[in-house]
Amino acid sequence: MNSRRNAPPIVGVIGGGQLARMMAAPAGALGIHLRLLAESAHECANQVIPDVVIGDFRDYETLRTFVASCDVVTFDHEHVPNALLRRVASEGLEEKLQPGPNALQYAQEKVKMRELVAAEFSPRWRQVAHIDEARDFGFPCIAKSLIGGYDGKGVWRVENEHELTELLKHGGLLLEELVPFDAEISVLVARSPHGQAAVWAVTETIQENGICVQTITPAPHLSEALAGKAQAIALSIAEQTGVVGVMAVEMFLVGEDLLVNELAMRPHNSGHWSIEGAMTSQFEQHLRAVLDLPLGATGMRAPHAVMGNILGGDTSDLHRAYLHLFARDPGLKVHLYGKEVRPGRKVGHVTVLGEDAKRLRARALHATEFFAGRAGEHDE
Ligand code: ADP
Repeated sequence: MNSRRNAPPIVGVIGGGQLARMMAAPAGALGIHLRLLAESAHECANQVIPDVVIGDFRDYETLRTFVASCDVVTFDHEHVPNALLRRVASEGLEEKLQPGPNALQYAQEKVKMRELVAAEFSPRWRQVAHIDEARDFGFPCIAKSLIGGYDGKGVWRVENEHELTELLKHGGLLLEELVPFDAEISVLVARSPHGQAAVWAVTETIQENGICVQTITPAPHLSEALAGKAQAIALSIAEQTGVVGVMAVEMFLVGEDLLVNELAMRPHNSGHWSIEGAMTSQFEQHLRAVLDLPLGATGMRAPHAVMGNILGGDTSDLHRAYLHLFARDPGLKVHLYGKEVRPGRKVGHVTVLGEDAKRLRARALHATEFFAGRAGEHDE
């Protein structure tokens, strides 16, 4: 915490997207000063966080100066090169980076993550550089770029050797068996430098074309025992990686088995429901964790929470939807990210809380379709 008397702690955030933007509300409530390192003056978080440094996070001097100016630095994305973070850490700034480069490598490098996760909780996988190493892996399979990728970018379903040979022209890949999953789930955990950890109810994520369109919490397809097992896996990964802050562990549910798909070491789309749906939101918890403060209660405020992503459609003025949606559904909670609308881009989300998950899903769907210009005012 900041040693200047009466000065609020300064939490630096690298990246000016919607995750940084949604940290602003709890930071304001808790009297925490956010400082942003944004790539341009037009990032959506800049609209709600006044203290913005415009600069390139890939530039060492920019990064080091920014980190030195804050009490703690955290992330809106995972694109900061790990080697740069290690260099900054080695200059006596290690404790300011939360999560640090050691933990972050597991979210940045898919092979590192696969090596960490126990084989029983992992799809069969192999790192390949040449088609000769892949011929006996089995097709169809899933190929993933070794570093980076989000919203399904950097993930390919590969049908045969020919397709894989083409993909390998661009560099090495991680191959995974094609998992015939029954559902995709996400477990949100938070961990502080002291090692205190917290976990929220398990969320089911509904994906279309590689993009999450809705989440349902608690996950309806999961028995209590399996939900507990999923939470235990996520907590164990938090401990093993030493992550600080919020981490989402995405998993596949296959019968009674749980297979880890991905780690995200930051607040995550699958945890947006927690803003209204949990005693402590993922954004507040992230700030508490990176400042090494005691974590907040994670219990739910309602039996179910459904979140729907607003994906850009044909309508560019999203606010026009407010009159109809607010009149129709007073319980609907809307978050717009202040981003320019482009087809398929995540530009906001809605959350509804209540008893009946099916009914909640219909309410969320109507709202997100209406925002995208696809639902009429009288549609159910
Ligand atoms: P991203 O980070 O780009 O979202 P993911 O690794 O989460 O990438 O993959 C995107 C989607 O691709 C997943 O949500 C899932 O639907 C599908 N997918 C990924 N890996 C596999 C796999 N091994 N088997 C089957 N489907 C997969």
